[in-house]
Formats: sequence, C-alpha cells, structure tokens
Amino acid sequence: MNYNKYAAEPFRIKSVEYVEMTTQKQREERMQQAGYNTFLLDSKDVYIDLLTDSGTNAMSDNQWAGIMHGDEAYAGSRNWYHLEKTVQELFGFKYVVPTHQGRGAENLLSTIAIKPGQYVPGNMYFTTTRYHQEANGGIFRDVIVDAAHDSTANIPFKGNVDLAKLEALIAEVGAEQIAYVCVAITCNLAGGQPVSMQNLREVSALCRKHNILLFMDATRCVENAYFIKEQEAGYEQTSVKDIVREQFSYADGCTMSGKKDCLTNIGGFLCMNDENLFQEAKELVVVFEGMPSYGGMAGRDMEAMARGLQESVQDEYIKYRIEHVRYLGDRLLEAGVPIVEPIGGHAVFLDAHRFCPHLKQNELPAQSLAAHLYIASGVRSMERGIVSAGRDPNTGHEHVPKLETVRLTIPRRVYTYKHLDVVADAVIHLYNNRNQIRGLKWVYEPKRLRFFTGRFELM
Ligand SMILES: *Cc1c(COP(=O)(O)O)cnc(C)c1O
Repeated sequence: MNYNKYAAEPFRIKSVEYVEMTTQKQREERMQQAGYNTFLLDSKDVYIDLLTDSGTNAMSDNQWAGIMHGDEAYAGSRNWYHLEKTVQELFGFKYVVPTHQGRGAENLLSTIAIKPGQYVPGNMYFTTTRYHQEANGGIFRDVIVDAAHDSTANIPFKGNVDLAKLEALIAEVGAEQIAYVCVAITCNLAGGQPVSMQNLREVSALCRKHNILLFMDATRCVENAYFIKEQEAGYEQTSVKDIVREQFSYADGCTMSGKKDCLTNIGGFLCMNDENLFQEAKELVVVFEGMPSYGGMAGRDMEAMARGLQESVQDEYIKYRIEHVRYLGDRLLEAGVPIVEPIGGHAVFLDAHRFCPHLKQNELPAQSLAAHLYIASGVRSMERGIVSAGRDPNTGHEHVPKLETVRLTIPRRVYTYKHLDVVADAVIHLYNNRNQIRGLKWVYEPKRLRFFTGRFELM
C-alpha cells in the first residue's frame, strides 16, 4: 500500500483527552446492559467512538478563542450577525434562520412548506428528515439512482437523483402535489455518497420548469464539494469554497446540521431566498427554538460555527478529511472485508448482508455486528439497516431497506491514522471469525425513531 496516498493532518495537536481501556469481559457486560444497542452505551466505556460524526468534531484554537467572544444577549447577539454573514457569503442564500441543530431546521421547513397529502421526493431518506416530513402529512418518495441501493456498484456520484424517477412522480401526482424536492449532499444513508454538480443542475432545471421548490440537506455540503473537485470534469482547478457556493446556486434553500461539516458540537440553520417563507420560518422559530437571532444556540456556539464554517472550506483541510476516511476503507478492502463502495465522505459502511451471510435480515445482522464489534474491540459504531429504517406510519409495516450496514463514522480532526489501524484490525479480526456472530431479536421497540433507544437480546 502506498501510504503517501493519504494526506497527513494539516494541523498539530495542542490538547489531548485520555480515554479508558476496558477488557472484553467488561464490554460483554456493558453491551448486555445496553440492550445490544450501541446508542445506549456510556461514552466512558468506549475506546474509539465511531458512533457518529455529529457534534463530535474537535474545534480549533481559533474556534475556542471565539467561544470567549460569546455575546450572550437574549436578542441581537454580535455572534449571530457574524454567523448570518458567514452563511450568506459561503452559501449565497438571502435569509438564514438559526436552529438548535439540523432537525430543528427540518421541523420548521416541513411545517411551513408541506400541506398534508403532498409528496416530498428525496435521494434516499434520512431518519429525522423523513420523520418531520411524515409528521407534517408529507409522503416521502425515494428518487435516488438504483445503484445507490447496491453496495457493490463502484461508480462515482451514487447520491445522484434519478431524473426519470422524479419526472415520473411529477407526471403521476402533478407538480402542485409536490411540496418540494429535498436533495441531500452528500447522501448519508447511501454511504456518504456525493451528488454531482451536473445532477444538481439538472434537478434544479426540472424543478424550475415545473415550479417546484428545491431544498438541499446541506449537512455534508463541503465533503460533497470535495468529491466534485476530485471527480467531476471541469472542477479540478476550482476551490472547494467556490464549489460549495455553486452547489447552492441551484437551490431555493437548505437545512443544515451544524454538528457535521461546520466543525462544531451543536447548532444548525435553515436558509431560503423566498421572503414569505422566511417570514413564516421566523414566526415559527420563536415557538420551537428561540429568538430569530439565536434559535436555540448560545452566542458562543454561533461564533464557533461561524469560524468553523470558514475552516471547513479550506482545500487542505477537506482533502485530508476525505483521505483520512478513505484510508480506513482501503485497509478493509485490502483484507477482503465487504464495505459499501465507493468509500463515502464521513464514514466507512460495512455491508452486513455480505459480512454475515448466515443471518437473515430479520435477525438484525447490522445491529448485531455493531454490538459484536464493540465487544471485540471497544470500537463503537452504529446500525444503518432495518432497525434504523423503522415502520411506515400508516400501514405499520417495517421498511425493509436493501442496504443493511454498520457505519464506522469518523469524527473530524479527532482520531489519528493509528487509531484507524486499530479499528481496521478489529474489523478484520471479526470478519475472520464472523461465523460466531449471532442474530438479535427485539425486546423493546419504541414507536418513533426506534433505533435510538430500542433494546435487543441475543437469539
Ligand atoms: C445529522 C443529519 C441530520 C439532522 O441533523 P441534527 O443536527 O442531528 O439534528 C439531517 N440530515 C442528515 C443527512 C444528517 O446526517
């Protein structure tokens, strides 16, 4: 392997946080107490935490300095104006509404833009996004390209919208029955797969032709931009900053979880260009989040986000970020471990169907694989398969996704390449002993977003 293929860290480390080591016997007990759900483990019992890249970012000295510049006034904080200006400059939207995190923005958008019975097409679903759409009477339709559901289809831009599927939906239900189109850049559940600029342009043209609004889920828009720079003809010389801005030029607005690409630990916002929608969002934000000049965030958090956003679009940083994740994926591929290909932006996804062919999907192979990985190594990951997919709110039937995956999500600027070696070695060890992985069955199934707090036992 050519180790120079992977960019080194463009930073040095000024502060460290010690983590506790546990024995396999302790981890067996902890996993059982946690109902075989990695969400229910205590952080102190985890050695390398790859549960999520959400809110787990390491902030820079510049961001920590910004924390001290927090203006905690109830209204009109200077940090809000800094954040608003930064978002307007980087994203190009006219109006910004702050929220406590991404789902706060999803709640606002779904409430103001969906009439009950309207459709909301998207490129594969995201858990909280679809929840808010459905809670507001929307009907979600998946319009992602077929290849996204195939973990072995190693083609670029697997997050793309299938234009034929979108056109067919418009023809079927009529443009006025579509609340808006929601395109996630990148597509988390497909494996952090990016959407190409050409696809964004085409989706936008189709939406404009039919007078349908296009909103983006901007959560990992900088990672998406890097893939465009790396893999889409014509963008090699364009800065990631300019690519980010061009992406959003095709949309009417976006929702943003500040906990991912913004390099902070909390926060979010909603953007739009339409003044009427903005008025409605501003009226609603005071009900759910807080004043339109903080939306659930402390002044210091808004300052950290404004600074984090500027750092996130630096070409050197984002190149390192993507190649760091790719290093883990490449190590697993070399050992023959089945993962979702190509390797996405924020995570490596183990393909639990191929990892545990002896388990049927109703034996919850990904949930079980995540539990066994923790027991074997102290590495915490997350299920993204049938448990996360949940049930149809109308019929009560389980959604049965084609992809049954375990997500090894890499926090930004937190772990070294050596940490990733520990993870790779643990996964490879587990793969070589995969026959010992037993299935799980439900003990407690929550009615909403069941993966967060559901409990299981070994079969
Ligand atoms: C995390 C995430 C969200 C929700 O954001 P929160 O900040 O967790 O509320 C929405 N969409 C995608 C794609 C995400 O990954």
